[in-house]
Amino acid sequence: MSQYRLEQRRILDGAIPGPRSQELAARRATALPNGVASSSPFYAADADGGVIRDVDGNQFLDFATGIGVTTVGASHPKVVAAIQEAASHFTHTSINVTPYEGYIALAEKLNAITPGDHAKKTVFFNSGAEAVENAIKISRYVTGRDAIVVFDHAFHGRTNLTMGLTAKNMPYKDGFGPFAPEIYRIQTSYPYRDPEGFTGAQAAERAIAQVEGQVGGKNVAAIIIEPLQGEGGFIVPAEGYLGALADYAKQNGALFVSDEIQAGMSRTGEWFCVDHEGVVPDLVTVAKGVGGGMPISAVVGRAEVLDQVHAGGVGGTYAGNPVACASALATIAVMEDEGLQATARAFGDRFFATFEALRDELGDGIVGDVRGRGAMLAIEFIEAGTGSGAKTPNPAAAKAIASAAIAEGAVFLTAGTFGNVIRLLPPLTMPDELFDEGLGILADLIRKQV
Ligand SMILES: *Cc1c(COP(=O)(O)O)cnc(C)c1O
Repeated sequence: MSQYRLEQRRILDGAIPGPRSQELAARRATALPNGVASSSPFYAADADGGVIRDVDGNQFLDFATGIGVTTVGASHPKVVAAIQEAASHFTHTSINVTPYEGYIALAEKLNAITPGDHAKKTVFFNSGAEAVENAIKISRYVTGRDAIVVFDHAFHGRTNLTMGLTAKNMPYKDGFGPFAPEIYRIQTSYPYRDPEGFTGAQAAERAIAQVEGQVGGKNVAAIIIEPLQGEGGFIVPAEGYLGALADYAKQNGALFVSDEIQAGMSRTGEWFCVDHEGVVPDLVTVAKGVGGGMPISAVVGRAEVLDQVHAGGVGGTYAGNPVACASALATIAVMEDEGLQATARAFGDRFFATFEALRDELGDGIVGDVRGRGAMLAIEFIEAGTGSGAKTPNPAAAKAIASAAIAEGAVFLTAGTFGNVIRLLPPLTMPDELFDEGLGILADLIRKQV
């Protein structure tokens, strides 16, 4: 098919990183601070469909999508055309000064596709962290309460409030405090590491007992949770866990906020991850995959909740930029027109077939858990021989495999509180053959680690 500009195949042409990438790395060393990290050693020149082409002409299979952002590919022609068209008229006026249709049209679309058929409204921001901050602001405002309930392994961003919500110290929080008060961290559902057979209802009971013990339901403004934890290691909670927490929030007059920044927007094979269990949150945070690569985020939620905030209480100079709105509308249309949620589910089926078989093949080896939903997929590595006991995290294996994959021409990200997870976030426009080729590379590298 000629839907792609770049040939959809791996190209490895000499050393990785090549000479041009090495030149850029040298310039970077003097121009950028050490705090900016990159997982790939090569520099991008082009990206399309399932491949990233570097400045030396190598091409890599893209299983990262810039951390779950370019779900429809990094230069889908319809998204590019929408960006060009919008930019040719105006790049910015600010919704707070001179409003425009794109902001309204995108809000209408998100109001329609988010869970629940109640009246909804949407406000836009620029980054995921900013959306989370505003979901918390709104929750506190409408409930008149302070306490925010978050979970082990959570990731919600890098601003001060969202660092406080995030669980992991290194690299996100170390030395950057003090953090905001009234944040309570609760044990989450982690089926692989919870007691054998522990149900979602039991995990929710455990969590609720902790909330009652530490905070008291009547003091909770919001429970914010990633319905499938991202940076924390692609942890899929046991069935029924999310719904039980949502019920508890409702019974106690708190808001249930689903942070769908990584798991939403078709990534898991549904518009939103909570759709798998029919859970309807009060507020949903959206970013990453919604913008087609342009920076835009949103809080979508119950109209009667969002409408309580006074005029000017939420917003931002760039929030809901018109070019980003146009890109997001085109991205959503591509997801619908190309049936990409079905593709996400099909990718998931192929992944499970491959890696569940590999886990069995390796016996009590380094593959501890194989999990995920749709095209949000992961493997948790443990020390061989610990699978029926301590399940000792094996971050060295995850790191070695991700770095060996680069040499093979495929980009995979690591994740996890213990750094022992490889996660897959392929573009849903990646050709099937490339997806399978990437799985094959990963499986071979895992076998070599044993
Ligand atoms: C990435 C992410 C964020 C933060 O988004 P930024 O755009 O990096 O600020 C928040 N929540 C979740 C679940 C994320 O994956």
